[in-house]
Amino acid sequence: MEEVAVSVNSHHISQTDTCDLCVVGAGIAGLNALFVASRYLGRNRKVLLIDRRPRVGGMWIDTYPYVRLHQPHPMFTAGNIGWTLNREPSYLASKDEVLDHFSHCLAEIKDRLTVDERYGWEFESAEPILGGVRVVCRAPDGSSRTIDAARLIKAYGLRVTPNEPLAFSSARVRSVSPDSCDVRTGEIAESTAPVYIVGGGKTAMDTAHTLVTTYPGRQVNLVAGSGTFFTDRDKFFPAGRRRWVGSTLLSEMAVDMCRRFDGANEQQMAAWYRATYGTSMTPQAGNFLLGVLSQAENTTIAGGVNEVMMEHLEDIVDRDGHTELLFRSGATAPVEDGSWIINCTGYLTGADQPYEPYTSSGGTVLSIQVRSATMHLTSFMGYFMTHLMFLDQLRELPLYELDMQEMLQRNKTVLPYAMFALAQYNLGLMADAMPSKVFRECGLDFDRWYPWPRRTVGAVRFMLNHRRERDHLRQVLDTVRVRCDVRCGPLSHGDATACAAAAG
Ligand SMILES: Cc1cc2nc3c(=O)[nH]c(=O)nc-3n(C[C@H](O)[C@H](O)[C@H](O)COP(=O)(O)OP(=O)(O)OC[C@H]3O[C@@H](n4cnc5c(N)ncnc54)[C@H](O)[C@@H]3O)c2cc1C
Repeated sequence: MEEVAVSVNSHHISQTDTCDLCVVGAGIAGLNALFVASRYLGRNRKVLLIDRRPRVGGMWIDTYPYVRLHQPHPMFTAGNIGWTLNREPSYLASKDEVLDHFSHCLAEIKDRLTVDERYGWEFESAEPILGGVRVVCRAPDGSSRTIDAARLIKAYGLRVTPNEPLAFSSARVRSVSPDSCDVRTGEIAESTAPVYIVGGGKTAMDTAHTLVTTYPGRQVNLVAGSGTFFTDRDKFFPAGRRRWVGSTLLSEMAVDMCRRFDGANEQQMAAWYRATYGTSMTPQAGNFLLGVLSQAENTTIAGGVNEVMMEHLEDIVDRDGHTELLFRSGATAPVEDGSWIINCTGYLTGADQPYEPYTSSGGTVLSIQVRSATMHLTSFMGYFMTHLMFLDQLRELPLYELDMQEMLQRNKTVLPYAMFALAQYNLGLMADAMPSKVFRECGLDFDRWYPWPRRTVGAVRFMLNHRRERDHLRQVLDTVRVRCDVRCGPLSHGDATACAAAAG
């Protein structure tokens, strides 16, 4: 594919770089964008990779040290790059192993593409110029730098940042964040004081699992809010002969889910999904954010945790010589002096990012983030949307975008079903516009867990049915837009013009 040469008018600008592609964000979304770019650009083309963090890896760099992948590791990758770990596919990679794989992916990509890495660089703004886009960044020494790029991909992804400890009135408890307190070592390891995990999601489960297996018998309590249910990992990634029979491919479930969802029946959807594919260790489970847990992990946690409180913690206060947990409901519970309070409340729910559309009016800017999501996962967006960009289809396809941030704030229960409907709808449009090689090279596809005859049947079924499902999916997404009052629909021209100018 021919690249448009960037016209640079830089007589009064110092230190202007030029490149064919500038990617902001060295997480899994950015790596997938680079992988795809390596399919279109030759080694003689220049690509700049910018990230404010100190290395490749995105949120995995500063997420809590005992985090593990939720999913079998082979499908957590860039494009179809294989892992060098040499472990069974069901193995849940640790943080260091994930970071090693990110480095490996970048090295593989650099075999095909010249990538100039700029870490500690902050993207600040971009504006359209003739033949491309002018990007302004802040370098680590504080100086402002300009990059003229033919294309810009802002792969901000989920913008997960480390959690801070929760602030409480009481000074008699020790409030920590898993991101700065490794529960396996240091003071918390030496202490025998009770632990209270605040939160019921994936981080809370990882923390509870680590604590109950590292310190059997220690008092570990869970303040689980409304409770969370998870996808049962064994259902979609079964072992042995169930890979061949008696299990459901994730793609089959997605089709089934989308047929059941009408945009307004999220309570029935949650009940159905939880009963059919879910697992949870709390008696109630109001939340579902696509986290994954196995029955075995669930049983271990449930067996090791002392008390599960279905409450929202508001504060911890000292009263009459005693210390109490104070809940939103007005209830209280005594807490021992010196107890550890671990903030495992959501990484994904507190963010407040500015809206920007997923592409600019000229199609020279692609933005992969939660305010204009086009698929369920940012890795998939990095992969498929970059293909669309290089195929000059970004502006052509009437993709729907969904504002996941608004959706989380307005109706969290709808989010997972709306995300699946969005992904199915947009994938259907993409399937008609992209060569089949794009799908064949997509190593992110969860169906790859299954032997090829089964996943081939899944792929053929999708190709045969996706056009028939389109009207229903559009109606579902339109219903979600109206009912939940969220941005959910095709881009308007005005939106796309705003994209190039949107700052980081
Ligand atoms: C605890 C936890 C566990 C998870 N486990 C899984 C899992 O098992 N499987 C799964 O699929 N997902 C998982 N996720 C979701 C996870 O967030 C994604 O999988 C993924 O790694 C996110 O990648 P990303 O590229 O979208 O975003 P990030 O990893 O956040 O990368 C975006 C990058 O962009 C950079 N950036 C943003 N803005 C700027 C700017 N203005 N200037 C410079 N740089 C900028 C950031 O520094 C960052 O490095 C998990 C999430 C959490 C919180």
